[in-house]
Amino acid sequence: MENPRLTFATPTIIAGDRSLVALVAHELAHSWSGNLVTNSTWDDFWLNEGFTVYFEQRIMESVYGRETSEMLAKLSKQGLVEEEKDIRINKGLPEDTKLKLNLEGRNPDDGLTAIPYDKGYFFLRLLEETVGREKWDAFVKEYFQTHAFQVMDTERFLAYLNENLLTGELANAVDVDAWVYGVGIPANIPEVSSDRIAQVDQMVSDWNNDMIASEEIPWDSWVYQEKNRFVTGIRDDIGADRMAELDSLYLIGQSGNNEVLFSWLEKSIRNSYRASYSRLETFLVNVGRRKFLTPLYRAMKETGQTDMALNIYTKARPNYHAVATQTMDDLLEWDK
Ligand SMILES: [Zn+2]
Repeated sequence: MENPRLTFATPTIIAGDRSLVALVAHELAHSWSGNLVTNSTWDDFWLNEGFTVYFEQRIMESVYGRETSEMLAKLSKQGLVEEEKDIRINKGLPEDTKLKLNLEGRNPDDGLTAIPYDKGYFFLRLLEETVGREKWDAFVKEYFQTHAFQVMDTERFLAYLNENLLTGELANAVDVDAWVYGVGIPANIPEVSSDRIAQVDQMVSDWNNDMIASEEIPWDSWVYQEKNRFVTGIRDDIGADRMAELDSLYLIGQSGNNEVLFSWLEKSIRNSYRASYSRLETFLVNVGRRKFLTPLYRAMKETGQTDMALNIYTKARPNYHAVATQTMDDLLEWDK
């Protein structure tokens, strides 16, 4: 969460190995996109978040190289495609897949989806790829300088864009209207070239089926997103023995990266890998983010380990935020 010149960050992003630096980059980038130039209403939220994800990606590229930043882009593209479909089809809210939202009479929280973040990012990336990085970078700099300490809405941004960057044929090539006012994801979304995630998927599938040995996994050469992808791909019925084998080789249960640790703990619950259970309790007592809590308590409930869940919850509950206890109380049928 960004505030002007003062970023608030959850302690769970401190991994000990700088592996969650993308989120730090994101929050700091908000000092420009969000605080220097601020979305006028929550309908224009994509101006804050799309630019910020774009900057985050550029920072990742500059720090870790294009190969890594492309892998991250690939993950967000996959996430975007899935979530867009979910919003449009399962939730039946196609209007919410437009960059320019209409939240009249609704909770601004309803607009907090992958659309402003990742559809926004890919739209800006398309602009960059259309005009070339040099021209685009000069435009972005000028845009932030010209509008410093002002609010910005979608229409004024587009007017500025058309006047200063997308002249003539370029505008047609991008099809700004489809991106900003159209439902879904336009077909000209930029291509992302990375097969690293596909390689991890193949590897975990082979490992699940006993076609490769645990020793063959290039664990230490992976960035955390690849590790996390591998762990989430582990079969829920792989069994405690094979979990133990991985753990003894790669010390996954001791990971300081909370994303990897969280995924590992969930797999531990599903596979009754009890060696992780004391770490699980420590994690749940010390961490309060709902995105971590809900799947872990749910996994315990779904695998007949509700007693353990309630036991941990009794200790952890006093430290949770009210929004978290609301969800967990329901999930665990907590009797107050
Ligand atoms: Zn943000």
